[in-house]
Amino acid sequence: MSLSFSVLGSGSAGNCTLLVLDGPRQPWHVLIDAGLSPRETLRRLRPLGVSGADISEILLTHPDCDHLHPGWRKAARRHGIRWRLSRRHLRPALGAGLAADLAEPFDGTFSLGPRTVVEPLWLPHDELGSVGFLIDHGGIRLGFATDLGRVPETLPQRFAGVSALAIESNYDRSMQMGSHRPAFLKRRIMGGLGHLSNQQALEAVLAVDANSEVDHIVLLHLSRQCNDPRLIRGLFARAAPHLLGKISITSQYQPTGLLHLGSPATTSACPPTLARQ
Ligand SMILES: [Zn+2]
Repeated sequence: MSLSFSVLGSGSAGNCTLLVLDGPRQPWHVLIDAGLSPRETLRRLRPLGVSGADISEILLTHPDCDHLHPGWRKAARRHGIRWRLSRRHLRPALGAGLAADLAEPFDGTFSLGPRTVVEPLWLPHDELGSVGFLIDHGGIRLGFATDLGRVPETLPQRFAGVSALAIESNYDRSMQMGSHRPAFLKRRIMGGLGHLSNQQALEAVLAVDANSEVDHIVLLHLSRQCNDPRLIRGLFARAAPHLLGKISITSQYQPTGLLHLGSPATTSACPPTLARQ
């Protein structure tokens, strides 16, 4: 039994992650978010040996355009891909052109493929909110949370026992404060309904790690203007040196390597690509 995943791209210009789940006969391929164009997504999937026809479903964290690229309205139909999204996001997603007959809204826990259970976790983000996922594939667990203005109190408990945690680490607070961004934008990002700072992400990682044996920590959605992977590494080196070797910092432009969880060993086929922002 194994679960593998690769973050194909993450950031305000498009988010997409590939999940590969063991199936009885063949692997089950799922995307979390479809924020890159279909063409770019397929280009990044090619080295992994995955085509559009292999994708069964897209899990949507929320229907913002960096998570739902308009090109997927037609591409999902072409490839026969179903959308799995929160019922709270259904109306805006349909308004954005997502086909109703391909949409399967969830209200709570749901199954994904033959062996996987997904528990959604509501995250505060703008007016619509975002959804995090605890993906349990025969006991192998991945926690995934992006676009959250703050960490819900329940998150460390809900993500207990994960082997991998993928969580947003959007901005460095000093860079954000010192940026030339307008005050309203800084308030939106830092005000609890926007994005997580590196410090908030670190605290969440430590809280989850206290309840788990986390092998991989994948940091998502870095701001190109207000973050720097070197700052994140420095932060972990000071505050959580025991976790430094487990972190992968995602990039907008470059997929991470495929990270493998579960039997026979929690190893990577190839080392995760470091971000060059
Ligand atoms: Zn986003």
